Amino acid sequence: MNYIFGPVPSRRLGRSLGIDPTPPADPLSLARVGPYDRPRAPKACNWNCVYCQLGPTRPFTRSRSLFFPPEALFAELREAMDSGLTDGVDWITFVGSGEPTLNKDLGVLIDGVKAVSQIQIAVITNGSLLSFPEVRLELLGADAVMPTLDAGSPSLFRRINRPPSEFGFERHVEGLTAFRRAYTGKLWLEVMLVAGLNDGEAALRDLAASIDRVAPDEVHLVLPTRPPSEAWVHPACEAAILRTKEILSSVARVILPDERHGGFGNAWEEDHFATATSIVERHPMSLGELRTALVNWGAADPDSIIRELVSLGKAIKVEHGGETFLRGRR
Ligand code: SF4
Repeated sequence: MNYIFGPVPSRRLGRSLGIDPTPPADPLSLARVGPYDRPRAPKACNWNCVYCQLGPTRPFTRSRSLFFPPEALFAELREAMDSGLTDGVDWITFVGSGEPTLNKDLGVLIDGVKAVSQIQIAVITNGSLLSFPEVRLELLGADAVMPTLDAGSPSLFRRINRPPSEFGFERHVEGLTAFRRAYTGKLWLEVMLVAGLNDGEAALRDLAASIDRVAPDEVHLVLPTRPPSEAWVHPACEAAILRTKEILSSVARVILPDERHGGFGNAWEEDHFATATSIVERHPMSLGELRTALVNWGAADPDSIIRELVSLGKAIKVEHGGETFLRGRR
């Protein structure tokens, strides 16, 4: 399973089957096959957010490339559907080891998935490449697009999302605004609320002004509850969340962070170890979540699988917020 992972429970999307359009490179393989010239980095992204659950971005991936032949994903999806993996899935979500729009084939992938499945398609993106007309065009086929807007000023944008200089704040907001004008699906802006960074009144008023320009259908507040790239990052407190809702509600419908729902679905195959590996590589899980998922999949001894993930170097243990998480080794 190279491109599909999950299903994973998502706070906003119920049970979500993930498609990773920028899968981690095999560090042992330096060969480039045909036009598939994907960068040999474990995480392909053009931002380096302080809260990133995939760890630091090293190096930046600054331009789009071809990552794999689309037919390879379509074959995997057909296999997943035949084996019942998509049963009960609410959304197929393009998300994974970095920024999905860095894959030049994203439009082909979305159209190909739509051709074989009735399930709604979401794309979780930082939105930085929406300033390119071709990227806006490719995303028109998705049922929901969820771009990031964490800040309402250039300086705070640089502090939180830490992009290279060519991906500036104005370009970002203009890209989002241009996409909104063309897109008739659900545009759900995602705001990660980080304590002490973007949860103060002045920062929130700036953010409200930028959100007003974009005019999304909804604004989803999310919290850095999984291990962040920077250890000093903490979720905003309850009072700050309420302040945020009050200020941002003047310009958009605001959805609060809530308890996750959906639950882990069927395992991909009998190989619970492989299934768990493919998820934690892209989506860190607490030990409790992983144990529950393995039990649901029918694993006889979940703790031995968890031990093996660590001892074989597939994942590392990370402490965050008083919990232990397993995260892919990067
Ligand atoms: S959170 Fe998303 S946009 Fe930010 S560095 Fe991580 S993968 Fe990139």
